Amino acid sequence: MFEKILYPTDFSNEAHKALDFVISLKDAGAKEVVILHVIEKANFDAIARYATKDIGEIEKNLKARAMAEIQPIEERLKKKGFKVKVVIAKAVPYMGILDVEKKEKVSAIVIGSHGMSNIAEIFLGSVSEKIVRRAKTPVLVVR
Ligand code: ATP
Ligand code: MN
Repeated sequence: MFEKILYPTDFSNEAHKALDFVISLKDAGAKEVVILHVIEKANFDAIARYATKDIGEIEKNLKARAMAEIQPIEERLKKKGFKVKVVIAKAVPYMGILDVEKKEKVSAIVIGSHGMSNIAEIFLGSVSEKIVRRAKTPVLVVR
């Protein structure tokens, strides 16, 4: 049931906490983890509009930065015996997550209840809320 897990991360502390639960799913039969970071398209477009540098270069830098954040996560999962796939997308975050859910045929999604904004008064971040509403597979939301 939990063979292939999608773990979307914005590299926030909240998303980081969710990683412990990804690891505990090993006991429930999890074998493979897809680590996904979505570069916010809206942010990227805003930067691109005012950029003096080549936007291809900016995109490459953003991807390299994301890769650097992902590397220790990937290492940790591999050490625990998981097969790991890394995806970096540029999209509206929830759309990028749902897209990978479908393309990779994952069996479940593990996300943080909150992310970078982390406003305590809000029940769920907007990304996790949309994922809970629209995902086809079970979603484990980690507080
Ligand atoms: P909001 O974005 O609505 O201001 P927030 O940042 O506190 O609120 P969310 O963005 O919903 O909360 O984050 C919840 C979880 O969704 C994160 O812990 C992470 O697992 C996932 N997530 C959020 N943004 C991204 C992203 N750009 N790429 C991959 N995963 C993401
Ligand atoms: Mn967010």
